This record gives sequence, structure tokens and C-alpha cells, in this order.
Amino acid sequence: MSPAMVKFENVSKLYGEHRVLTDLSLNVSAGEKLALIGASGSGKTTILRILMTLETIEAGCITVNDRPLLTPKVARLSPRRREAYLQEMRRDIGMVFQHFNLFPHMSVLRNVTLAPTLTRGISLNEARDQALDLLEMVGMENKASALPAELSGGQKQRVAIARALALKPKIMLFDEVTSALDPELVEEVLNVLRKLGSQTDMTMLLVTHEMSFARDFADRVLFLDGGRIVEEGPPEEIFRNPQQDRTRLFLRKIVAAGLSL
Ligand code: ADP
Repeated sequence: MSPAMVKFENVSKLYGEHRVLTDLSLNVSAGEKLALIGASGSGKTTILRILMTLETIEAGCITVNDRPLLTPKVARLSPRRREAYLQEMRRDIGMVFQHFNLFPHMSVLRNVTLAPTLTRGISLNEARDQALDLLEMVGMENKASALPAELSGGQKQRVAIARALALKPKIMLFDEVTSALDPELVEEVLNVLRKLGSQTDMTMLLVTHEMSFARDFADRVLFLDGGRIVEEGPPEEIFRNPQQDRTRLFLRKIVAAGLSL
């Protein structure tokens, strides 16, 4: 078993009075592809946002690559030192959101080269070569000089994936990256994820409603309900033979909604 790349220990998260995650413990191995599934509001996105340090937690510890990310020790650092430390930790983590958030006034190529040149001190030439390779990987090399407004949603999302990869993260987080797309554009983005999953050793956490995709893509599926992990296991087990009533009910609703498993 590979070492844990991401470790949540007894994590609780509240928004005001509202408890969103309760005593959640989770290990994700280096290189593992984990799919997070569950009804809307079950806490999936919150897990990713916490890992991006976009949210704080009320209890528990989180380590990434054996280094503290959110722990009492990190919380005790002065705000300035904590921000500097977290900035360094965030270098290992990339996220792609439901909405692509590309810079609208910049070309596709500049969207991908911007962060490496600004934050990593990489020369523009090197960043450009790397960006063109990444754009080729996502099938967008012929749109390098286009502006985001000239692209379809699926194309924008593929550029957003290339942009996140340009920072060479060890961990990639994908938050419902096909949910905002027209149905006919979903597959082109899923194909990029399939390719990434099979060709890289990055650790990937993916929130998705695409159950048949989760089934092919993930090494492990985790079903959340009300901020707790109800059940987890290899996709074949979770989808074919769920052990918990709540998982069965969730999967039945998916089938009833006409979505395949
Ligand atoms: P999921 O990704 O499974 O749909 P989320 O992690 O987005 O679930 O949300 C979990 C719960 O937290 C939901 O009840 C949601 O309404 C609540 N929530 C999410 N973000 C906020 C916020 N910024 N402020 C208050 N409540 C929030």
C-alpha cells in the first residue's frame, strides 16, 4: 500500500451552526484515484475546498504528503507565517471547478502560462513549451491563440484542466467538472480525465454525478451522506453490491433518474 498523500483525521466542519462534516477520517494513497459521490449537500465539495485551504475546520487534523495542512500547530502560527506556510503547501494541490474561471481577456496559451511564469519563476519560453504540450494532451493545441469566449464549454474546461496541470501538482481535485456542460460536451472532458488517470501518477480526488465514469475511473468510491462517510470501497463493490441502505437508496434514485450506473 502506498503512503497516504492526503489524511483527514476526525475532521469536523461547521458553517455557523450548521454541521457539514462530522468526525470524518479519510486516507488517500499516493497515486490513488478517489471518487466522492453522494446527494447534493452531503459535503463532497467542502472536502475539496478544505484541501485547497479555502475553508477552515473546527476540529481534527489534515496532513498532505505527511506535512500538516490544517492542524492545531498550523492554527497557532501567526497569520503571516501561516499564510506563507499554506502558500507553500498549496503548491502541491491543483483544483478544477465546475465553472472554468478562465481569464476572459487572455488567450488560451496565456491562461496556461500565466501562473507558472508569475508564481514559479519559469521563463516565458519554457512555460510556453510546457503549455503547448499540455494543450496537446487535452486536445486544444489548435486553439492556443483563441480567447475563452470563442470556445465551447467543454473546450474551456479542457483548458482549465491544462492550466491547473501547468503548476505540476501532486494532487488534483476535480469538483463536478462536467456539471455545467451541455450533455454532448461531457464526454470530451471525461475522456481527458480518463487519459490523465491512466497516464499520470497524480493523486486525484473527484466529485462527480457521472456514476458510470466514476466506475471506470476510480480505484475507490466513497459515498457520503450528511457529512459522514457511509460506505467506501472499489467501484464494483459499491455499485454492484452496496452494503448500506442509504447507499442503495442513493443508487436507486440515480437509476430512477435515468442515469446509468
Ligand atoms: P455537496 O458538494 O455534497 O453538494 P457541499 O460540500 O457543497 O455539498 O455542502 C455541504 C453543506 O454545506 C450543504 O448543506 C451546503 O448548503 C452547506 N454549505 C456549503 N457552503 C456553505 C457556505 N459557504 N456557507 C454556509 N453553508 C454552506
